[in-house]
Amino acid sequence: MLKQEIIRIAGTLNELFPEPQIPLNHRDPYTLLIAVLLSAQCTDVRVNQVTPFLPDTPEKMIQLDPKEIELLIRPCGLAPTKSHAIWNLSKILIERHQGQVPKTFSALEELPGVGHKTASVVMAQAFHEPAFPVDTHIHRCAERWGLSSGKSVEQTEKDLKRLFPKKRWNQLHLQIIHFARKYCPARGHRPDQCPICSKKEY
Ligand code: SF4
Repeated sequence: MLKQEIIRIAGTLNELFPEPQIPLNHRDPYTLLIAVLLSAQCTDVRVNQVTPFLPDTPEKMIQLDPKEIELLIRPCGLAPTKSHAIWNLSKILIERHQGQVPKTFSALEELPGVGHKTASVVMAQAFHEPAFPVDTHIHRCAERWGLSSGKSVEQTEKDLKRLFPKKRWNQLHLQIIHFARKYCPARGHRPDQCPICSKKEY
């Protein structure tokens, strides 16, 4: 792909979403971590409806038992698994990290229910460290734009990190999510009306 084309895509995203908002409401790294964990196979809108009713520190969270957490998070789906992960990770944060969310990929990915994508979101959005979390929207756009083969999310992350400068990763991942939700749905996209693909020059 031409470097010019990559610059054009990034420029269009900047024009459309100059200040992309973080979709999951939170007030600190812990509440973001819980929100991201809850967002697995759930919409951000639904997560935002649930999180105001959850304890907002690990100490308060473990005052509940997993069954009580499960009832609170039921609208997000996978509640038995997610509630155990939330309770266990809260306990680990207290026991090993002074009640704080750790600021490294390795420590984050050791927490129950936290994979590389969740860790990347926390690193980027809570700690402003360069990361490129690839969700289903980013995976789809990267393949459709010819930026990656679409073979796997791991490959997409590698390709996007190679194509775009590190200082743009955090903003770009949010811009692509917003773009995909508005213009580039999994089904029924309109290439003729699309701000990116209708201006393709390759
Ligand atoms: S035409 Fe637009 S909506 Fe379709 S793949 Fe390209 S960017 Fe996405």
